Amino acid sequence: MSPSDWKLTAEQRSLLIKSAFEAKEGSYSPYSKFPVGAALLAPDGKIVKGANIENASYGGTICAERTAVVKAASEGIRSFIGVSVVTDLTTPASPCGICRQVLREFCALETPVLLVPSDYPQKEQKKGYGEGGVRETTLGELLPDSFGPEHLGKPSPSA
Ligand SMILES: [Zn+2]
Repeated sequence: MSPSDWKLTAEQRSLLIKSAFEAKEGSYSPYSKFPVGAALLAPDGKIVKGANIENASYGGTICAERTAVVKAASEGIRSFIGVSVVTDLTTPASPCGICRQVLREFCALETPVLLVPSDYPQKEQKKGYGEGGVRETTLGELLPDSFGPEHLGKPSPSA
């Protein structure tokens, strides 16, 4: 993605990054000890945060990204113009497959997804990464050839 395609302002970008770190504080991950925070930016500027919530019955665990989407959607916020995710890894981690699909329901394919390193902002500029070591991608890049609402006669998600 070239910088000219970038749809987030510097303020939105930094808000998303800060919010992902705040979201991670809410993680309940006693089993994996792998806290994750995610933040969603709605078109009106509202931020919705989510953290991974584990369960002793492991299958009941929900990822940070889906926590945020479910919180937002159940409050009537069903469109997002930016997503951010942070873990405790210094190499930014990417959403799992099912989270990509759940994001696909409410995000346009061009929606920017910021994958943030735990030590953000990194001082050294790494090849292939953006400012501070953030990997900047889009939902469409993370989930190519995807199935979405428009395949069932519903409008395509858009910002
Ligand atoms: Zn996930």
